[in-house]
Amino acid sequence: MLNKKTLKDFDFKGKKTLVRVDFNVPMSKEEEGKIADDVRIRAALPTIEYLVNQGAKVILMSHMGRPKGEANPKFNLAPIAQRLSELLGKEVKFLDSPVVVDDGVRSGVEALQDGDVALLQNTRYRKEEEKNDPEFSKELAALGEIYVNDAFGTSHRAHASNVGVSTLLPSAVGYLVQKELDVMGKALADPERPFVSILGGAKVSDKIGVIQNLLEKVDTILVGGGMAYTFLKAQGKEIGRSLLEEDKIELATELMKRAEEKGVKLLLPVDAVIADEIAADAVTEIVDIDSIPAEKQALDIGPKTAEIFTEAIVGAKTVVWNGPMGVFEVKPFSQGTFAIAEALAKVDGVTIVGGGDSALAVEIAGYSDKLTHVSTGGGASLEFLEGKVLPGVDAIENA
Ligand code: AMP
Repeated sequence: MLNKKTLKDFDFKGKKTLVRVDFNVPMSKEEEGKIADDVRIRAALPTIEYLVNQGAKVILMSHMGRPKGEANPKFNLAPIAQRLSELLGKEVKFLDSPVVVDDGVRSGVEALQDGDVALLQNTRYRKEEEKNDPEFSKELAALGEIYVNDAFGTSHRAHASNVGVSTLLPSAVGYLVQKELDVMGKALADPERPFVSILGGAKVSDKIGVIQNLLEKVDTILVGGGMAYTFLKAQGKEIGRSLLEEDKIELATELMKRAEEKGVKLLLPVDAVIADEIAADAVTEIVDIDSIPAEKQALDIGPKTAEIFTEAIVGAKTVVWNGPMGVFEVKPFSQGTFAIAEALAKVDGVTIVGGGDSALAVEIAGYSDKLTHVSTGGGASLEFLEGKVLPGVDAIENA
């Protein structure tokens, strides 16, 4: 399905192979330099290990966080080089430079032996990275002979270390990008039915494209999270102080109409967990969706909704989930999201979680292994589900 060159299209033996990976991992807020979650590092291992076994000289590059074009030590990749060494069981040479590429880095690359692995410093230490600057792209490309994009999480961006470099070297996608695109691509193009999608999160405006695209493909859409209240308001319901995007009410009405025309079931919450405020010790109450008091906020789906959504999910053959059902970061409002994670784990079919908060919820709940695919890219998977072309993939040579 994917018409791009892959790792199988090249002979990597002795070749300096520049690999863009997504090591944009969350760091611990309590302890500086401690990695909070290494899922993204582990997701890059199949490509790195393959290249090592092929005898490539592997030069990895990634960004982490938002250092805003400066060598900010908070975003130093040194701890990542160390974790990667542990995971690979071999030394990763950290080619540290405040400007990412300099003479020291160039000689470090020249000293690499076949099968060695090196990591450059955070590409966002250079402001040119996010501008897809041609000069910075050239500096990076000059380090390698072949380029591999395995950073799915940044593929929706056109930056120097992905799009810029791929225009200057022979290029391929890595295993992670290939897997992400294959699994999600198949679900969208040729899903086993029933096909159910669950959408949540804060804003309708962030998900318009996804809803529009999925409405043409799915049998059922379950809408939860803060975005559900704009739909409920459009139905004339009193939503109290729940999240509302006034300027999207009309659009919500249109989307519900479109669903009806297409024969797509669009289900909204029938009950909610309400409170005065978002706080761990907030006093909560469960109410029917018609009974939200004017001064309260609805902050999670209620148990009846969780049951109805679960029933729709467990009977599905393809499920795509993006966005939490409530303010799941705060305990009293987390149950709805975890109920959905649990429902997905019970599905006898293809289950896909589109990164970001829902991926985190699945990970916390311990269900990641029970699902077909948990995407490593929140923004990238969202754009893919919208049907958009991802520039970081588009820039790779056609097969
Ligand atoms: P998104 O980035 O659009 O997927 O939104 C995720 C955020 O939506 C999370 O931080 C949740 O806390 C928030 N959220 C989910 N449901 C609600 C709700 N009912 N009210 C307010 N915020 C919500």
